Amino acid sequence: MRKQIAAANWKMNGNAQQAETLLREVMEPRIKLKNHQFVIFAVPFPFLQQVKRQLGNETNYSVSAQNISEHASGAYTGEVSAEMLKSIEIKYCIVGHSERREYFGETNAQLAQKINLLLKNDITPIFCCGEPLNIREAGGQDKHVETQVQESLFHLSADDLKKIVIAYEPIWAIGTGKTATTGQAQEMHAFIRSVLSKKYGNDISSLISILYGGSVKANNAAEIFGSPDVDGGLVGGASLVAKDFIQIINALKS
Ligand code: PEP
Repeated sequence: MRKQIAAANWKMNGNAQQAETLLREVMEPRIKLKNHQFVIFAVPFPFLQQVKRQLGNETNYSVSAQNISEHASGAYTGEVSAEMLKSIEIKYCIVGHSERREYFGETNAQLAQKINLLLKNDITPIFCCGEPLNIREAGGQDKHVETQVQESLFHLSADDLKKIVIAYEPIWAIGTGKTATTGQAQEMHAFIRSVLSKKYGNDISSLISILYGGSVKANNAAEIFGSPDVDGGLVGGASLVAKDFIQIINALKS
């Protein structure tokens, strides 16, 4: 089975003490993950090392950054490089979250550069794509997402593409409490896989984990994750409530 992933996106929430408490509560039931199940905590930069330490050697639990610079190094005050993440043994990083695209103007081309730097530093990019409401209402979601995937991923070799995790996030369902129906999620995940397949072939596209993001909650995770092309979720709000995120972890396909 493909990797099934519950990824928590804490965004810019909490402080160091709250991060310690939240992680302790989530880890308390000591959920034993199967070989193909993974839990990833995407946390603010200042908490990366403490969360990593707190997780210790728990199998299949990892910490992730939420962003990196598209530059390798240099005079970019306030930025963080992929090499810096590598030097503290971070293995995952979100790229192109819709909030980064919308509030910080990140483009598909910049995201391609970030992905290159992450791969060069042995860090798995969690590449986000998805359409805003007006595009969904006009029926343009397939074209929109296809362009995002083509412009940020299609320069990769098949070997590098295999290292990517994709998160489909319909922007209209992020932080809004609206969720895509299971049918809408499955349809878009299958479409993304078909886009990858046309360029890289079925053998490669069937290996890529595609997570669903958009108001995944404790009470809808099992249904959403149950679809054949949905390989878990990228979870914002509900990942900040320990008992909810625990239920979401338990909803991963077994
Ligand atoms: C997210 O930001 O990745 C997300 C999916 O947020 P929420 O679950 O709060 O909609």
